[in-house]
Amino acid sequence: MKEGIQDKMKTDLKSLSANETIEWVKGVGLEPYRAGQIRQWLFQRMATSFDEMTNVSIAIRERLKETAFITRIGKIKTLVSEDTTEKYLFKLDDGSLIESVLIPEKDHFTLCISSQVGCAMGCTFCHTARQGLKRNLTAGEIIEQVIETQRGMADPDKLTNIVLMGMGEPLANYDAVVTAINNLIDQNTISFSHRKITLSTSGIVPNIIRLGKDSPVNLAVSLNAGDDETRNRIMPINKTYNLKSLIAACKQFPLPNRKMITFEYILINGVNDSPGDALKVAKLLRGVRAKINLIPLNPGPDPSMCAPSWDEMVRFQDILAENQYTVIIRKSKGQDILAACGQLSAKELTQF
Ligand code: SAH
Ligand code: SF4
Repeated sequence: MKEGIQDKMKTDLKSLSANETIEWVKGVGLEPYRAGQIRQWLFQRMATSFDEMTNVSIAIRERLKETAFITRIGKIKTLVSEDTTEKYLFKLDDGSLIESVLIPEKDHFTLCISSQVGCAMGCTFCHTARQGLKRNLTAGEIIEQVIETQRGMADPDKLTNIVLMGMGEPLANYDAVVTAINNLIDQNTISFSHRKITLSTSGIVPNIIRLGKDSPVNLAVSLNAGDDETRNRIMPINKTYNLKSLIAACKQFPLPNRKMITFEYILINGVNDSPGDALKVAKLLRGVRAKINLIPLNPGPDPSMCAPSWDEMVRFQDILAENQYTVIIRKSKGQDILAACGQLSAKELTQF
């Protein structure tokens, strides 16, 4: 069989954790130290085939080819924004399409990656929601967005920050997401700093609590409303996990010194942007180590929704600041190429 064509009987090595890789190499009759070698090739040296693994004998490479495969995703389109943000369209082995966004900062890059093809959460303001959920990504496909992006960079070390804020709800694909993150921060291989990885969730409460135990990443919560009635309307997940349970989970989330949970709050004109809404948010987050990012709504699937005026946004910000919160208004980059928060849908990109 040709390498790269996935065989269901073969093992997807990039989707295994460090311990699972050791168990797997033992299972195919190799010594445990081979696991470390293989992982270095996969994650650090960005190998695309077993033949590149030159410190592994030819006989072992043949055994690997017979029993395992290396996930690759194909970058089939790149769009570059006026502000130099880049959006990538990736095609997966089954033809599914996902997007990642590379955002330039002052002295480094941040990559926004996807965790699912589409999303089942149905938030009314979000383009990705319109597709529904097609499928979960594997851990290998999640990591490969990072590695494939680094392959295309002049200085891959400049990619230091990763945000799981692309397509999909990361905590609805829990096991693959945690394996991917733990592989990214594995000090023996790719070694990203856990302080520079942020997972954003719409609020899958039981998995917020699990995440606190399983992975030391930063947490961002898409809040978007200060009361259940409003949140039920724009984020259906709230009917399953209401604000009370969400805030309780956030209070349990283990935070290192000086770290805070980021609460993202999209401002939508006439929906959640009044001074009364700001006061509700201030009350709701009392006792939580919270910083708040206000995000003007980017044009989404519902044409009747728009961002408030600048003055209204500043008024909202001032109320939260008066209540002692750290609060910024964050404009997303890459709007001209539909690369901003909530605008990823892959379908549109194929029409460019
Ligand atoms: N599913 C996760 C992560 C992906 S969505 C979550 O919801 O948190 C990433 C971010 O994009 C979320 O904070 C979401 O609230 C925001 N977003 C979605 N649609 C948006 C829009 N139209 N304008 C601005 N931000 C949007
Ligand atoms: Fe899914 Fe996040 Fe979009 Fe909601 S905002 S539909 S959870 S991707």
